[in-house]
Amino acid sequence: MRKKYIIITGWVISGIGKWVTTASAGFFFSEKYKVTPIKLDGYLNIDPGTMNPHEHGEVFVLADGAEVDMDFGHYERFLWSECSGNQSISMGKIFAGILEKERRWDFLGKTVQMIPHVTNHISDRIEEVFSQSGWDICMIEVGWTVGDIEVELYLEAIRQMKRKKKKEDFLHIHLTYVPVPGWVDEQKTKPTQQSVNLLQSKGLFPDIIMARWTEKLSKSSREKIALFANLREDRVFSLPDVDSIYTVPQLLKKQKFDALLYGKLWIPFYEWERLHEWSAQLLNQVKSEITVWIVWKYTALEDSYSSVVEALRHAGKHLWVKTNIIFIDTRKKHGIEKVKKCNACIIPWGFGDTWIENMLETITYIRENKIPCLWICLWLQLMVIEYFRNVLNTPQANSLEFDKKCKPNDIITLLDSQKNIVNLWGTMRLWKQVSKLKPWNIKDLYNEAERLKWNKIEERFRHRYEVHPSFAEKLNGTDLNITGTSPAGIVQFIEMNSKIHPYYTATQSHPELSSKLENPAPLFVGLIRASI
Ligand code: GLN
Repeated sequence: MRKKYIIITGWVISGIGKWVTTASAGFFFSEKYKVTPIKLDGYLNIDPGTMNPHEHGEVFVLADGAEVDMDFGHYERFLWSECSGNQSISMGKIFAGILEKERRWDFLGKTVQMIPHVTNHISDRIEEVFSQSGWDICMIEVGWTVGDIEVELYLEAIRQMKRKKKKEDFLHIHLTYVPVPGWVDEQKTKPTQQSVNLLQSKGLFPDIIMARWTEKLSKSSREKIALFANLREDRVFSLPDVDSIYTVPQLLKKQKFDALLYGKLWIPFYEWERLHEWSAQLLNQVKSEITVWIVWKYTALEDSYSSVVEALRHAGKHLWVKTNIIFIDTRKKHGIEKVKKCNACIIPWGFGDTWIENMLETITYIRENKIPCLWICLWLQLMVIEYFRNVLNTPQANSLEFDKKCKPNDIITLLDSQKNIVNLWGTMRLWKQVSKLKPWNIKDLYNEAERLKWNKIEERFRHRYEVHPSFAEKLNGTDLNITGTSPAGIVQFIEMNSKIHPYYTATQSHPELSSKLENPAPLFVGLIRASI
């Protein structure tokens, strides 16, 4: 098959579902073909690794250790494949590459210009990534919105790429917002019409319009959009609100979106067998309901914990449990009061020393009152500090991350590999790493999920600190059992005997990042099972 390109742009506002359109379109090809999602971002940061989660949402870590946009989490969950860091392209990376080339004299004395040098560099990067991943279908999501100065060069590069391709190899989906102002109660298509005009003025002519609003598109709105976009009506699709994002492929299939994609790209139609698992009917079948509380500080933006939320949904579906998710901001005084009402708790990752004392109080409550809890990354570290302070009589126990002078009570200390690092970009202990598991509950859970090989498992990591090896030894014979370590001995999993606490399980890794609807993260399954 010849290489195929699907471009996804968006308009009016961001956050209306470009990723879900990209991932769903890719979903229809992903069983039979190699689908390569590429995200073009407008920011000048090299990657989101150094951005505040409140600013940018979750930082997703890929198996190769790249810190990327949370959209990659969705791509991996929908496309059932592992992405690599070079699929994430930012303007920061583009300019860094151009300046490097300029210094190397690659431009042979020419004046370096936005067009053609930067635009060529963009298309070269896209082609390079696409070829490295082994061709078939490349999904290119253009971040931000059409008209933003930050993405102008991407759109120009795409126009130039399209010029060189055959009509049947290049497809452009444009996602727009069709608002209904309360005072008129009518879908307004003007923003969509204008955005198509805007795209046309840039030499881009969308083949498909995806209209986003709470409800489906009305017949007359569809007609109007088709007329102004110069498209047949069956090229205009609705993307209304849904209870579960996993029902979007089904929803689009009902509108024959998949058939159109195959047809336009001249690819023989192939029906994805697993599609029925993603049906609303199956997703809504539940036998019980629980409330899980996600406790921590980046709660102002739910996207900060996107993968944790998805992993809970996956585990819930696996056990036929509806999981209601509530966020608790422990910086607020009433935080601990709310924890008292939890069926189950997850305390996800975090950085910095703010509100740590408040959290330690919450941890004591969870331990003493036997609330099932999964501790992720920073919270494995805090859970150990709390245990040393309150059970093992070491009141000065602390982490070097919070108090640079806490030695020799640095129960949590800097990893050896981090000691000479000055540059904070991309230098944490990242990548997928191996853990060897002892025969405890965690191992059983991984075994049940068929993720255990030779007593070993793999998860992704993102940290600089670890449980101090000499303090780790002091846990021997206590109720906190280290049941998983790296080959070099770094503590990666800790659990309490289920006779003492129903679920007191901690990991230094990020199990949420590899969770899939059909293969939920074992530690999340364990948490939900313990709480029902
Ligand atoms: N701040 C901690 C560390 O760097 C934990 C990081 C995390 O929660 N991902 O070790």
